[in-house]
Amino acid sequence: MSIGTGPSTDTLRQTLEAQLRQHSEDLAALTAAGADPGGTGEDPDTIATRAAAARRAIEEINAALSRVTAGTYGRCERCRNPIPDARLEILPHARFCVPCQARAS
Ligand SMILES: [Zn+2]
Repeated sequence: MSIGTGPSTDTLRQTLEAQLRQHSEDLAALTAAGADPGGTGEDPDTIATRAAAARRAIEEINAALSRVTAGTYGRCERCRNPIPDARLEILPHARFCVPCQARAS
């Protein structure tokens, strides 16, 4: 295990792209379910909430992918300190370190 270098850019990209695919599939399924109310037996409000969450996740992941490209990935957008690897493992598209995230929300 390496310390301080984080996952390689390729690994990172693959992780983010896999998540992007997953969320896109979710969104497509939710959009289909939303277009056919009663078809799945799910509550339309629940479907709308989940679709909005999937859309937001897709935006976050796309933003993370551009940060990988720009070379700024893994840095807090607020204080510019490196985000700990442990946090990025849990939340690969994290934009802020834990203290800044706590302040932002
Ligand atoms: Zn920060």
